[in-house]
Amino acid sequence: MSSEKDGIIIVLSSPSGAGKTTLVKKIAKENNFKISISHTTRKPRTNEVNGKDYFFTSEEDFKNLIKNKDFLEYAQVFGNYYGSSKKKVLENLKKGENVIFDIDWQGTEQIKKQKLNYKLITFFILPPSKLELFNRLKNRDMKDKNIVEERMKQFNEDIKKWEGYDFVVINDDLEKCYKEIIGFIDKRTNNIGSSYDKNNILNHIKKLRI
Ligand code: ADP
Ligand code: 5GP
Repeated sequence: MSSEKDGIIIVLSSPSGAGKTTLVKKIAKENNFKISISHTTRKPRTNEVNGKDYFFTSEEDFKNLIKNKDFLEYAQVFGNYYGSSKKKVLENLKKGENVIFDIDWQGTEQIKKQKLNYKLITFFILPPSKLELFNRLKNRDMKDKNIVEERMKQFNEDIKKWEGYDFVVINDDLEKCYKEIIGFIDKRTNNIGSSYDKNNILNHIKKLRI
């Protein structure tokens, strides 16, 4: 059983470019949540800082961390390894800090299966349209057209995972989406039953698939 003093685990996943990293940073900053900083074997983007955005790690080191069972979860995404280290996350939760994760559906499945003694709230973020997603990816990954194409190609597979999440939200206006997420977190934290508009999301997903 989790106690009132324990922190909660919040997970955000989405197709690449929908805005989960932006949302995770905003949620953490404005609510004093701790971000679980992942390890990755991916190369850093120009604006990314080691130890802040990710721990950028060699494949050899990553495999040693797997062997040592240092990860709460890990997965291969777009040909690179990504993983959340266990120690820091569990320390923070025990101290009563809320910990927020920006991880893919494979990692979310692994965390769900572990049935940790902490409240877990999972969010799946959708883009307003495929065109907007493309534009966001293009702006972010300007230097590498292949990355944008690879991530757009994966989109139809990625959106199939929405059903495994507690809440699904559309990131059109950042502030509005943020407030929606915080509203759901508040309700769940206080054990007030809440749900999202599933019909609206189903219709939106139909449009995104065209
Ligand atoms: P993800 O982590 O889901 O791959 P990011 O958070 O990196 O996505 O966002 C992709 C790009 O879209 C970034 O350049 C970010 O600044 C931008 N972005 C995120 N949310 C919005 C929004 N609501 N409106 C416009 N641009 C956004
Ligand atoms: P990006 O390369 O755009 O930073 O991340 C690519 C994908 O990897 C995103 O879906 C992101 O959520 C996911 N990811 C980032 N860190 C982790 C992690 O620690 N574990 C898992 N399973 N996925 C992660």
